[in-house]
Amino acid sequence: MKVALVTGGGRGIGRAIARDLAADHRVAITWRTSRPNEAAEAITSIRADLADPQTCRSVVDRVIREFGRLDVIVNNAGLVKPTPKDDFDVVTARAVLDVNLLAPGAMLAAALPHLERGASIVNISSVNAVLPPRDASIYGASKAALNLWTRAMAKELGARGIRVNAVAPGAINIPEEPRPTELTRLFEQDTALGRIGAPEDVAQAVRFLASDQAGFITGEVLTVSGGYRL
Ligand code: NAP
Repeated sequence: MKVALVTGGGRGIGRAIARDLAADHRVAITWRTSRPNEAAEAITSIRADLADPQTCRSVVDRVIREFGRLDVIVNNAGLVKPTPKDDFDVVTARAVLDVNLLAPGAMLAAALPHLERGASIVNISSVNAVLPPRDASIYGASKAALNLWTRAMAKELGARGIRVNAVAPGAINIPEEPRPTELTRLFEQDTALGRIGAPEDVAQAVRFLASDQAGFITGEVLTVSGGYRL
């Protein structure tokens, strides 16, 4: 059975991705503050602060020790923080870049010696990579950079048969922190399909891109937004 590693799998979108993949993969997740129930979720969980690149290496080492292989990496962990232009805090901005952009880089570097032909990386981006979020420009920039990095890695790893893609969610309501009704309504008005997304909507797209069914797809960013701001 293939082995998948999902970062930030203790809650929200990452949890839905991990649950979905667990149907036909052996799954390891990382968590930092949201401790999962391993037995209930049928996963292995690894506590890790991914802002530290050394931690990414120990996460991969643990997966290899436990499962002997690694086939799918879903870089889902992400940090959204306000970085307003008139009160710019470089420490906060760096933290956003560390988790959203540099951790996937460190994770891939650690995993590369173990990845074989057919391996698949899926990065969780955002529609905010192309639609700038108000007062969170560094978050948007981190996701735009993640999209470019996705394409760059697809190009560099194609010859090794490793695919690298991204999924860019629109507004997704996570059970741990649902958006206020008024905000949800605003998103719905701006969305062609007239509803806000569920974590499972994202998980389905990840499942496809991670699978052999997407064997000739690499370097793509698949938007999962219900047609947000079309
Ligand atoms: P969330 O519940 O806030 O999830 C964030 C995840 O990232 C958590 O699992 C968290 O782990 C992990 N994380 C944050 N900082 C970390 C660090 N330093 N080290 C390790 N893990 C860290 O939000 P979500 O909505 O599920 O977001 C998941 C991904 O989807 C993110 O990349 C986000 O940018 C993207 N996204 C979400 C939406 C949306 O509308 N929800 C839209 C577009 C894109 P702990 O909780 O264990 O600390």
